[in-house]
Amino acid sequence: MRISKIFVYDESSVPEIKIDELSKFLQKTLCIPVEVRENFFSHFKSDKNTAYSLASSRVFNPYIPFEKHVPTEEEIDFEEKSFENNSNSNIILYDGFELQKIIQDIIPEEELSSGIFHLVFTTRLGCTYDYDDYRYHGRAVICSNPSVISTTGIIEAPAKPREYYLSMHQTISQGLNLDALKEQFQGRFLEYHDKNLAQVVRGYALQAIFYYTTADPFCDSKECILYNAHWQEDLIHSQMQSGKLCGHHQKILESMKA
Ligand SMILES: [Zn+2]
Repeated sequence: MRISKIFVYDESSVPEIKIDELSKFLQKTLCIPVEVRENFFSHFKSDKNTAYSLASSRVFNPYIPFEKHVPTEEEIDFEEKSFENNSNSNIILYDGFELQKIIQDIIPEEELSSGIFHLVFTTRLGCTYDYDDYRYHGRAVICSNPSVISTTGIIEAPAKPREYYLSMHQTISQGLNLDALKEQFQGRFLEYHDKNLAQVVRGYALQAIFYYTTADPFCDSKECILYNAHWQEDLIHSQMQSGKLCGHHQKILESMKA
């Protein structure tokens, strides 16, 4: 699949993405024109129907596969109010494939031709149900066209170090504040509004694009930004410390450009 144009949709409540820099990076790396658009739901002037669909796609029980939820008025209102500035601190789970489909259905037919790729940033956390362990898992990226990158998923989906969770339970049971703990583990996981998000989203954006254009989207090497990290420390290693494609994927990139 060849891409002739990319649209990236900003999530203005997370300016740390630095969407303009990402756009320039993608344009330079892929030699494809990239256009930045505002928040997806604002760009397409989303209405109550979209709010209803979003509210219907919420996941309430992470241990059962998706069942369409009949939303309350309050939930619909909430979605409508948070199309753009969705920066509340309560994490709401959405079925990732439903979320992707809602977004796809909004994009007009003429913009869904195979040459146009849409990359949507959102704070909404898409999750997918895994039949291996019978539960939902948060996702940083739902790969397809459109692809959806969740800024909440980048923070919440890859796990923090095991020792962090152990210390966290102790800290909470002793009634202590988590701030000191976070300081102790600083640099070992990303936090909300982390300044490193700008770098990390580059890897996720390329993962989504490689998924769409090649049969070889994810890498086994932690030195490659296409590495599908399950741990925050691995994410930071592949995106920040390495920050580049491995030789194999660099070659694929060159052939994509040719
Ligand atoms: Zn690679």
